[in-house]
Amino acid sequence: MMTITADNLKDNIVAISTPLGTGGVGVVRISGDDAFSLISKIFSTKLREKRLPEFEANRIYYGWIFDDNNPIDEVIVLIFKAPKSFTGENIVEIQCHGGINVVQNILKLCIKTGARLAEKGEFSKRAFLNGKMDLSKAEAVIDLIHSKTNKFAQISAHNLAGKLTTYINELRHELINLLSQINAALDFPDEVNEPAYDYLEEKINFIIEKINNVLNTANSANLMRNGIKVVIAGKPNVGKSSLFNAILNINRAIVTDIPGTTRDIIQEFIDIKGIPITLTDTAGIRELKNNHSSDYIESIGINITKSYIKDADLALFVYDLTQGILEEDQAIYEEIKNKPIIKLGSKSDLVDINLVENNVIPVSSKTQKGLDLVKAEIEKLILSNNISSDTEFSTNVRQQECLNNAKNSLFEALNSCTSQEVQDFIAIDLKSALIHLGEITGEVVSDEIINNIFSSFCIGK
Ligand code: GDP
Repeated sequence: MMTITADNLKDNIVAISTPLGTGGVGVVRISGDDAFSLISKIFSTKLREKRLPEFEANRIYYGWIFDDNNPIDEVIVLIFKAPKSFTGENIVEIQCHGGINVVQNILKLCIKTGARLAEKGEFSKRAFLNGKMDLSKAEAVIDLIHSKTNKFAQISAHNLAGKLTTYINELRHELINLLSQINAALDFPDEVNEPAYDYLEEKINFIIEKINNVLNTANSANLMRNGIKVVIAGKPNVGKSSLFNAILNINRAIVTDIPGTTRDIIQEFIDIKGIPITLTDTAGIRELKNNHSSDYIESIGINITKSYIKDADLALFVYDLTQGILEEDQAIYEEIKNKPIIKLGSKSDLVDINLVENNVIPVSSKTQKGLDLVKAEIEKLILSNNISSDTEFSTNVRQQECLNNAKNSLFEALNSCTSQEVQDFIAIDLKSALIHLGEITGEVVSDEIINNIFSSFCIGK
């Protein structure tokens, strides 16, 4: 069923596979039929005289990359012969010194010698098209690369090892079994009895339940993939930056007693129970009374703050316990009141915390008191609504849509069973469920979907 357009699949492609930046080693990867002849034009095992090895599969060669007679770098070259490679094609991996210039020079040289710069995700796309990995594994690779917490990396690694694929394939087998029983009775009515309707119902319900097991983890998976945005909001000088630093246990935001110091947005990332949280320290919002240029700059910060607040999933509202909630604090509270809010009373070391209202967490960035409570409260708020970070599966929105479509077809099949329709009808819905499940692993999938998935990869993957 799978349709593949082979437009430029025959090209030899090249890309830098490691991040650009200072590092010990950089990797440039070439894939395609002519990968070996291409490397032989720019590689030599000797520095001063051109010596070419007879490349053998699964070997590592030490030598030099040359541009004409100019040495570019001392490298090792790994040779993978088709079909035993990541893409299923001939692959040459050039491991050179890291840093921006060396890898880019080698990349340019490969392009000059006849390779084309790979598109985003083109290595993985070729791996998929050549049957080296299925779609859910390819998507697990993206998740693994982009995982923001260790927990999500672990779940993604399970998917890469085939957890979701195996689970889905088991369900597909169940469906294929049912379909063959129905078809056998349709094809040989004299010899084979058609399966009983309650038997079909029982089996279909079983598959729906299995699909639900995965779908129930969807919110958690989305949360762990995307994380949540927490913003610290409050008027100037209530201690937001101090709190930001204290929660992160670092000295990132500038703390001063001059109101309006934080004009920019500062963001850092924390891992709370496997959920990636982007914590944003904002400029304190206050009414500006004159037209000084410094006020103008602060006003930009305030506007940016308002947009971050709007975008946040959760707000930490901070007011100064030594002052209580004043009019200015109330105005800020109005800005955020439609979001889930945790109310924090700051500088608790300066007051008697027994007098603090019940729905407020007293915190002191100075003594660190109350910080654990803040984290626990964030966790509690995020993990309400049946969201758990102990999820077994990780699915993305596309996979969830396939599962929902499969489930809908199965419900149709159930309805037909209940009304004891002819079993041809039931078979149609079962087949459609089978197709939707096949879209998860890529068994049955359109070009458009393939291109969509792989274009979200990075270049070099
Ligand atoms: P922001 O403008 O809301 O970001 O406030 P800052 O974090 O810059 O703090 C303003 C002032 O309050 C600084 O002088 C801090 O040292 C002081 N401050 C912040 N947190 C605390 C705290 O927990 N206890 C005490 N005693 N002072 C604090």
